[in-house]
Amino acid sequence: MYDVIVIGAGMAGLTAAIYVSRAGKTVLVLESGVVGGQIVNAPSVENWPGDYKVSGKELMDKISHQAKELGAEIKYEEVLSVQKIQKIIDGDIKNSDDKSVFAVKTDEDEYSCGAIIVATGTEPRKLSVSQAADAGERPISYCATCDGALYKDKPVVVVGSGNTAKQEIAYLEGICSKVYHIHHDDPIPEDAEAIFVAIGRVPKAEFLSGLVELDSDGYIVADESCTTSCSGIFAAGDCRTKSVRQLVTAAGDAAVAAEVALDYLGENIY
Ligand SMILES: Cc1cc2nc3c(=O)[nH]c(=O)nc-3n(C[C@H](O)[C@H](O)[C@H](O)COP(=O)(O)OP(=O)(O)OC[C@H]3O[C@@H](n4cnc5c(N)ncnc54)[C@H](O)[C@@H]3O)c2cc1C
Repeated sequence: MYDVIVIGAGMAGLTAAIYVSRAGKTVLVLESGVVGGQIVNAPSVENWPGDYKVSGKELMDKISHQAKELGAEIKYEEVLSVQKIQKIIDGDIKNSDDKSVFAVKTDEDEYSCGAIIVATGTEPRKLSVSQAADAGERPISYCATCDGALYKDKPVVVVGSGNTAKQEIAYLEGICSKVYHIHHDDPIPEDAEAIFVAIGRVPKAEFLSGLVELDSDGYIVADESCTTSCSGIFAAGDCRTKSVRQLVTAAGDAAVAAEVALDYLGENIY
């Protein structure tokens, strides 16, 4: 059994793992995609204090290295469900809810732990049903910097109307023969060879619904204390209800979530 399982290895998850490890507790970080999270594709980060114009990948490589050096274990597995189970002490099942532990089921295995820090962040919002049908078999990308070069001198389309869409257009205009710009739900031009989607992001917390309160947009309801509606489960970073979703706020949440999780373990589990 682990003391803490952290779900997600972005800024929030890795920072939480650093704090938990430094407190001498065992921590398993489960990551379904790329260690480093959504920032890894950003070519330059200018507002991370102390590391001006660092690439997202370089920044997150340093932080994951730090977490591992301090003792955090990281596994590439997707968490599918979390269940609160009764704690078994000396062969007896204890019925107190406060003494519960958690079973975390992934696509490969199952683990138990005393507390959970959810740091699952957000993922790009997908095309509408009609646009997905329009797109057919054509490639869909959520990152012009990552995939733009594949469409050199070819026509592409960018879907979206915010700042991110504008940045994607500016980047692709330097590479592609034509860059169409359409809004969510507009028909997709027939000759566009790839579709770049920039229509915002959505939280990745639906696997917790029923156990933890989510708001109407699917974010985990948690205030600055990072406590959720389920005792023993804490939320940090972009996946929780908050007004500013940035690297420093994700790291700040993680420190708070780790400290309250450690307090919880001390008071309820050990
Ligand atoms: C293009 C871009 C540029 C940005 N630039 C800046 C910037 O310059 N400065 C700044 O401060 N912020 C920037 N941000 C915002 C910043 O990246 C986020 O606020 C921050 O990365 C959030 O970190 P997080 O750990 O909460 O979530 P994420 O980075 O989203 O990490 C969550 C992790 O959880 C994993 N995960 C999700 N569900 C599961 C599951 N069920 N099981 C296991 N793992 C799971 C995901 O794969 C992901 O790796 C930018 C964001 C984008 C998209």
